[in-house]
Amino acid sequence: MRICRFNSDRIGVVQGSSVVDITDNFDLNSKWPTPPGEWVMSQLTSLKEGGQYSSRLPLSLTDVRLDSPIANPGKIIGAPINYKAHIDEANADREINQGKTYTSLDEYGLFLKAGSSLIGPSQTIHPRFADRRTDHEVELAVVIGKKASRVSRKDAFAHVFGYTIGLDITVRGKEFPGFRKSADTYSVLGPWLVTADEVPNPDALDLSISVNGEIKQKSNTRLMIFDVARLIEYASSFYTLYPGDVIMTGTPEGVGPIVPGDRLVAEVERIGKLEMQVGQVLA
Ligand code: MN
Repeated sequence: MRICRFNSDRIGVVQGSSVVDITDNFDLNSKWPTPPGEWVMSQLTSLKEGGQYSSRLPLSLTDVRLDSPIANPGKIIGAPINYKAHIDEANADREINQGKTYTSLDEYGLFLKAGSSLIGPSQTIHPRFADRRTDHEVELAVVIGKKASRVSRKDAFAHVFGYTIGLDITVRGKEFPGFRKSADTYSVLGPWLVTADEVPNPDALDLSISVNGEIKQKSNTRLMIFDVARLIEYASSFYTLYPGDVIMTGTPEGVGPIVPGDRLVAEVERIGKLEMQVGQVLA
C-alpha cells in the first residue's frame, strides 16, 4: 500500500495514478500535550491491519499537492557514513571532511535533523546560504511503525511501518552535522510511504539521483555498511523509536552541490520517484 499526505491535511492511498482520500478513518482531534510519536502514524498501523477505507471518489495524483508523508516525525535520524565509497569520497574531499578522517559509524554514531527542516514533494528546497556549498544526498528512509527500545537485529523489522525516499540536504562546513543538515527545507521525504509488505528486502534496492537530467548518485542499498536491521538496533540502543520516527539510512558516493534552478529527480526501487526543484536563497 502506498500512503500519501496531500493538500496539507488529507491522508490518501495511492492507486496507480489516483489518490483515494482516507482521511475520514482517522481521529484528527489534537491532544495536548501530544504524546510521543506521530499521532496519525500510530493510527495508520491499525488501519494497515484491517481498517476500513473511504468511499470517496478517487482524485488524480496530478491534481493534488503532495506533502511529506510524515507530518511531524518525533525524530529524523541520519546515518553520516554508511557506504564505503562515500566514506572514501568524503576523506578525499577537503570541503566534505574539513580536516577530519571518517572511519566508521560505530565511532561517529548517528545524528538528528530538526523537524522544522522537513518538506515534501510539492515544496521547494531553498539553499540557506549563497556563499556556502550545499549538497544533495539521496537515501532510503525507514519509517518506524511501533515503539522500539533496545531492539535486536532479529526483531527490528517488526517495528518498521514502511519506506520512503529521503533527501538529506547538507551545508558543507565544520559545524556538527545535526546543525548543517537542519536548515529549513533540508529534509525531504516522499513522494509517499510504501508499506513494508511491498518491500520484502530493503537491503537490496537501487537508488539514484539526477541533477538537471545528469545522474550524480547511483548505488544499491546492499552496499550499506549498517543494514536496515542494524540501524534500528543501533538507533534504539540509544533512544526509544516511536511511530513516525524516520531513519535516513545514509547516502552513497556522488554527493555534490545544488544551486537555485536545479531540478532533482531521486528514485528508489519499489518506492518511486521524487522530483524536487531547488529555489532561490531566501533572505
Ligand atoms: Mn546523509
